[in-house]
Amino acid sequence: MRFQSARQRVVEVSRALADRGYFAATGGNLALRVDDEHIVVTPSATDYQVMEAADVCVLRLADLARVDGERKPSVESGMHAQVLRARGDCHASVHTHQPAASACTLLGRALQVDDPAQRELLGPEVPLVGYAPSGTRWLSGKLARALRPDVHAYLLRTHGAICCGTTLENALRVLVALESLALEQLRARIGARLAGQRAPDPALQRLLATLETHPVQDVIA
Ligand SMILES: [Zn+2]
Repeated sequence: MRFQSARQRVVEVSRALADRGYFAATGGNLALRVDDEHIVVTPSATDYQVMEAADVCVLRLADLARVDGERKPSVESGMHAQVLRARGDCHASVHTHQPAASACTLLGRALQVDDPAQRELLGPEVPLVGYAPSGTRWLSGKLARALRPDVHAYLLRTHGAICCGTTLENALRVLVALESLALEQLRARIGARLAGQRAPDPALQRLLATLETHPVQDVIA
C-alpha cells in the first residue's frame, strides 16, 4: 500500500477529531501532502471509528486523479487541493464542523485576531468565505480566491471552517486556536447583548453560562 504511514496518521487524527467534536459525525475531512505530486485524503461519507488506512485515498494533487485506495475521496477534495496547491509551505489541510467556529460563520463576517499567540497561529484575521454548497467547484473557487499567505484559518459561511499548517500537528493547533477565538467572540457578543438589556433574556443567560463552561479540547494526538 502506498504511503501507508501517512494514511495511518490520517486514520488516527480523523478519529481524534471525531471524538472531540471537531468533525460532527462524518462532517469533516482532511488532506495531507505526501510528496511533490500526491496527497492523501479521507474517503467520502465515512464512519471515522471504523475507517482503516486502506480506505484513505491517494490522489494526484494536479488533477485529483485517484492513484490508490478503493473508496471514493471526500467531496471536499477540491477545497483541500486549492489550499495545498496555493500554499506550498503547507502540508496539511483540515476541514471541520467545529461548534463555536461554525456558529460564528452565521454572523457573516471575518474574525479579527488581536492576541499575539493566536495571531501567530491563525494570522491577523480569519476571513469569511461566502456561501456555496458543500463539495462544489463553486465553493472551492471561492476559497481559492480568499486564500492568503499569512492566514491559516478560514470560515465557510453557514458551514464550517478550513485550517492549514506546515505540518498536520500545526494545522491541529490552528483549529484549536480558532475554536478558542470563536468561543471568546461568541461569549463577548452575547455578554454585550445581555448588558444592553433592561430585563436580561433568561435564554441568553443560560446560553452564556453554557459557553462559559464549554471546554475547548486539544487534538494533538
Ligand atoms: Zn463540511
